[in-house]
Amino acid sequence: MLARALDDEALRRALFQFVDVLPELRDANAIARHFSAYMQGRELAGPWGRLLRLASHPLMAWAVRSNVTRTARLFLVEERHSAVARVIRELARAGSQVTLDALGEAVLTVEEAQRYGARYVQLIDWQQRAGVRPQISIKLSAFAPRFDPVDTAGSIERVLDGMAPLMQRAIAAQAAVTIDMEQHDLKPLVLETFRALIERYPSDAWQAGIALQAYLPGTADDASALIHWARSNGRRVTVRLVKGAYWDTEVAAAHQREWPVPVYLRKAETDQNYERLTRMLFDNADVVFPAIAGHNLRSLTHAIAAANAAGIARDAWEIQMLYGMAEPLQQALAEHGVALRIYVPTGELVAGIAYLIRRLLENTASSSVLRQTYAEGQDISTLLAAPEPSPLREGTADASRPFRSAPVLDFGQADVRGRFADALAAVRRETGARYGLAIAGADAATEVYEARNPARPEEILGVVELTDAEGARRAVANANRAWPSWRDTPPAERIAIARRAAALMLERRAELAGWQVLEQAKNWREADADVAEAIDYLNYYAAQMERLASWQPTISYPGEPNLTRFEPRGTAVIISPWNFPLAILTGMTSAALIAGNCTIMKPAMPAQIVAQKLHRLLLDAGFPAAVCQLVPGRGSAVGDVLVDHPDVHVIAFTGSREIGQRILERSAKASPEQRHVKRVVCEMGGKNAIIVDDDADPDEAVREVLHSAFGYQGQKCSACSRLIAVRGIHDRVVARLAAALDAWPYGPPDDPQYVFGPVITEAARQKALEYVEIGKREGRLVYQGRVPKSGWYVAPAIFTGIRPEHRLAQEEIFGPVLSVMQADSFTQALDFALDSPYALTGGVFSRLPEHLALARERFRVGNLYLNRRITGARVGAQPFGGYRLSGTGIQAGGDEYVKQFMWSRVVTENTIRHGYVP
Ligand code: NAP
Repeated sequence: MLARALDDEALRRALFQFVDVLPELRDANAIARHFSAYMQGRELAGPWGRLLRLASHPLMAWAVRSNVTRTARLFLVEERHSAVARVIRELARAGSQVTLDALGEAVLTVEEAQRYGARYVQLIDWQQRAGVRPQISIKLSAFAPRFDPVDTAGSIERVLDGMAPLMQRAIAAQAAVTIDMEQHDLKPLVLETFRALIERYPSDAWQAGIALQAYLPGTADDASALIHWARSNGRRVTVRLVKGAYWDTEVAAAHQREWPVPVYLRKAETDQNYERLTRMLFDNADVVFPAIAGHNLRSLTHAIAAANAAGIARDAWEIQMLYGMAEPLQQALAEHGVALRIYVPTGELVAGIAYLIRRLLENTASSSVLRQTYAEGQDISTLLAAPEPSPLREGTADASRPFRSAPVLDFGQADVRGRFADALAAVRRETGARYGLAIAGADAATEVYEARNPARPEEILGVVELTDAEGARRAVANANRAWPSWRDTPPAERIAIARRAAALMLERRAELAGWQVLEQAKNWREADADVAEAIDYLNYYAAQMERLASWQPTISYPGEPNLTRFEPRGTAVIISPWNFPLAILTGMTSAALIAGNCTIMKPAMPAQIVAQKLHRLLLDAGFPAAVCQLVPGRGSAVGDVLVDHPDVHVIAFTGSREIGQRILERSAKASPEQRHVKRVVCEMGGKNAIIVDDDADPDEAVREVLHSAFGYQGQKCSACSRLIAVRGIHDRVVARLAAALDAWPYGPPDDPQYVFGPVITEAARQKALEYVEIGKREGRLVYQGRVPKSGWYVAPAIFTGIRPEHRLAQEEIFGPVLSVMQADSFTQALDFALDSPYALTGGVFSRLPEHLALARERFRVGNLYLNRRITGARVGAQPFGGYRLSGTGIQAGGDEYVKQFMWSRVVTENTIRHGYVP
């Protein structure tokens, strides 16, 4: 099958997808069903076709499974003493040593981290018993469920603590411990932790090593920093030089985040860098033990030549290769007398599947060196030729994109974290300021409001002057006076101001995020993402308006051209919630302004300071004061006045269903002096469900549900508040989710060690606590976290045994409370999910194509996410908004949005003059 897959890309993909899901499949029917689903459409002729059809039968499931297991055994060794001892013996006979790697699923809980460490202690024991110096390869992220660069200090502490038992054992056994490199954004943290580990265990009894990847242009700098550090610490470290195994994921991840691609784009550049790095390691062999890892004939031959040229002794460096890979080369090297170490992964098939898939991909990719060398048998001079990068093709597809989203910050970089911390400190110095009322012609403030930090309610962040009905009416009058000239301002000018605002926001991003950390208790990442989204709205709507600005032809007939144009409506009242305090307010306001409306912003009470900052910024960018006004006031005092006002044309609202419906109702009633129909743009709540199918990837499902349900304490309109698990997976997912959640402590989010913080107000806290009580009556409280005593914290809670008719399944809670329902089948899960008055977001974790297809068709929500978290919609890519009682159905950040703030008119002209048809 593998041989066949070399030539058939679609078959390759189908095979890998099948192998990926196989470990989760409990019975023959499930295996057969998945197998035939993946192989569907693979119209293979002859014996292959017959074989595939045969294998799709449940009776053959055992054969399919055992074949995959056998294939897996070619690359990974069973984690039993006898099996490991046998492999060590066999390899020793062939002249090779080993390094052992315990493959594992993602570590999400403290207990999983401990188990991972214990497995390594065992691997060390087994190697000692086999009479060899123990050598293990580990992944730092597996020693703590939270290995996150935003909290670098805390992550290092946690990992070092988690590694303590292993390190004691390693030192006693004089073992060598090599740290594997992880994804690029973790690299600085991995390197820092590596140095910290050596500093904590300075003993020479153990040999420290780290893997560096040649596909990163930045690796030369990392290597020289490491060499410098080693020299000044008088410590010799092993450097395992690899090419890098995650090229595709690194490229995809960078594109998704709009970050620069961190890897070389051409394979030959990586190969060249690898050779440069090889020589660099040999040049510094006094402090580095070079371990040159790979399967490429040319690269390894180069290493041997370089070692000879540098006069490196045979025992002062080694080559490393993977178990089961390029065995002819392993043999040749051993015979040549090169010190050879084989990287042997151990573990169960389930845990090893990700590793297996990588190996299979490498073995079968058409560009694979392994394939070229060992399957296709290219001639030796080609295989040994020096790497020569071919000219790079110009990327054209991307350049024409009208809109590009603002990248979120890379908190993996120390300087980025430093700047953010500085901005936060600067924001803190500004707390306590007074924000004066700025509505032209309005009376003095009627009330002052003290904005408080939800994590420390005694901390007053600012004093905001509020207005009442009189101020609101004054603002409407100002807007109406200003409107004709704003309407007639060329759209290009409005677009330019919006783009200036986006640029200013980019400049002030850390400050704007800093305020959210304090005023809305958002963690660093969430706060930064909100600012990035706000920038995106400005740029995206500006780009949209460019298309809408001028007269456009509709269908024209000879002698009768038809032209249409969109026009602004007038005065727009913007009523926003506090949970995305900058993004949502900016989104609604900028769409209205760019379209040519005058805007009156009425932000939610718990987001007054951020709104003040936004208002200042929009004025700085050039929006005229009367065109862009801020009405700070309580919804109960100014809401109805603004909504009912006969001179208001548009009301853009995002918030709760209760207020949204009230606005829809009131705005429909025209007062006698009103001369238009009001347009209401209305986005409301959600009761979003994630379905976890019984074949879901459990690592992925647990991690993504955790962040969807508890990210920002469940206070996102898109948050998951119902988890619907299919029977076979229900108990495992719930138990693991609870244990994973337990690894994330709650605390004030200005401290980056806390990802989860308090809820927004004392009232929100009370509301969530009431639901916890209701949940105890309706279902079973299976997990409740611990939270600090002071501050508006709600201990996160997970309830099982919830049924669709329960209040916990129907009502929006807007706090860290997750209701879990169990379904007998996927279709029942879908029925449960749809049994809701809301239709905002939804998610499905499944690997059965027909279930994903069914969800795509039937799971009717504004934003459906398959096999990923359900929060964090991207402007332009994932226009956001719901249906039913979640919203009016036109999505923010999408093509149609700006039009909601406009109306269209058509001009038809008869151009025929006395028989002359132009
Ligand atoms: P909220 O209580 O409905 O408040 C929203 C806004 O309405 C606030 O500015 C509020 O002002 C104002 N308001 C209150 N009474 C009013 C009245 N009588 N007339 C006009 N406006 C009035 O919602 P929230 O607590 O801020 O936000 C959470 C809700 O928003 C959740 O239901 C969430 O699902 C929803 N949400 C939806 C989306 C979406 O895109 N669909 C996005 C984010 C949030 P005061 O603060 O002064 O009362």
